[in-house]
Amino acid sequence: MREFSYHRPAALAEVWPLLEGARGSVSLLAGGTDLVPALKRGLTAPAALIDVKRLPELEGITDTLEGGLRVGAATTLHALARSPQVAGRYPALAQAADTVASYQIRNRGTLGGNLCLDTRCTYFNQSPFWRAEYPDCRKTGGRSCYVVPKGDRCHALSSSDLAPLLVALGAEVEVASAVGVRRQPVEDLFANDGLQATTLGPGELVTAAVLPPAAELRAVHRRYAARETVDFPMLSLAAAAGDGWVRLVVGHVASRPLRAPRAEHELAAFLAGEGGEAAAVGTTAAAELALTSSVRGSVAYKKRVLRVLAAQAAEELAANDERRV
Ligand SMILES: Cc1cc2nc3c(=O)[nH]c(=O)nc-3n(C[C@H](O)[C@H](O)[C@H](O)COP(=O)(O)OP(=O)(O)OC[C@H]3O[C@@H](n4cnc5c(N)ncnc54)[C@H](O)[C@@H]3O)c2cc1C
Ligand code: SF4
Repeated sequence: MREFSYHRPAALAEVWPLLEGARGSVSLLAGGTDLVPALKRGLTAPAALIDVKRLPELEGITDTLEGGLRVGAATTLHALARSPQVAGRYPALAQAADTVASYQIRNRGTLGGNLCLDTRCTYFNQSPFWRAEYPDCRKTGGRSCYVVPKGDRCHALSSSDLAPLLVALGAEVEVASAVGVRRQPVEDLFANDGLQATTLGPGELVTAAVLPPAAELRAVHRRYAARETVDFPMLSLAAAAGDGWVRLVVGHVASRPLRAPRAEHELAAFLAGEGGEAAAVGTTAAAELALTSSVRGSVAYKKRVLRVLAAQAAEELAANDERRV
């Protein structure tokens, strides 16, 4: 592991001089459940780590003036899953947080780290010994790709479990930089690029996720994994419906969470009782989305799973009119 300096600022204002004064690359460290293994495996080698887990501006779960919730980026997945405010008003979110990895990882891993998680690929997320068998691919400085050999970019997969659900809910993120704080849709946080998971600039960090008011909202989260714990899913799916809108978002199948606009249209008609079947929502989503294969499943297998999960989500949204997210 390359030597690096470690900084633990006491407040957000102390982060900016550290970023400006850093010589070489800097990584933000939250729970470290993804970053520390990456450091150990030589997947990243920053010159400095800035620990953001204890920044007060990134803490807490509070009501917003609009009637939603602000969840600080340093909130652990365990705290998110156990929060009465979240469980009472956004149960699908509490349930999704509770499915990530293991108790130990949820106890340490944060919402911010989950949203900003690096993309993953079987040919990249390995030990140096394993990777030495393969010439460099795009993500390690080469020009080839073992997943999509004829592609022109890295297709490593977006692997955050919470991202598809927060996109489906229409949540926003607070992004802070030296010039201030802005709010943007979570949907715009993700670059469709295996080399760069997020659209954040070098001097920016996520301080919170902002959830919309829960009244009128219904949501469902589903994931399919070979093992029930300590395993990334092969595919995850989130669907949400509010007053006059629906969103259907699929995770772990591309370098960013994918919305399925035609399937959303189908789902809206199904929920409004204007015809159509739940199964058609799944068929349409599987037909319209370009999925990337992974060691967890081929494209054909992912499409089969997507058809089933989308149909289940449609049925559940329809059956639980009163259910809150
Ligand atoms: C065995 C194992 C299984 C796992 N299974 C799952 C799973 O099923 N589903 C899943 O979603 N994840 C899974 N993970 C990944 C990870 O543990 C979680 O996503 C966790 O929530 C990451 O949060 P963290 O705080 O530990 O992030 P860190 O490791 O600290 O950081 C992750 C990335 O986010 C960046 N970052 C952190 N905070 C911020 C911020 N506030 N603003 C901007 N950038 C930031 C870091 O710089 C880093 O690039 C798994 C990990 C392991 C080791
Ligand atoms: S998707 Fe291709 S380029 Fe990206 S990490 Fe995997 S093998 Fe490398």
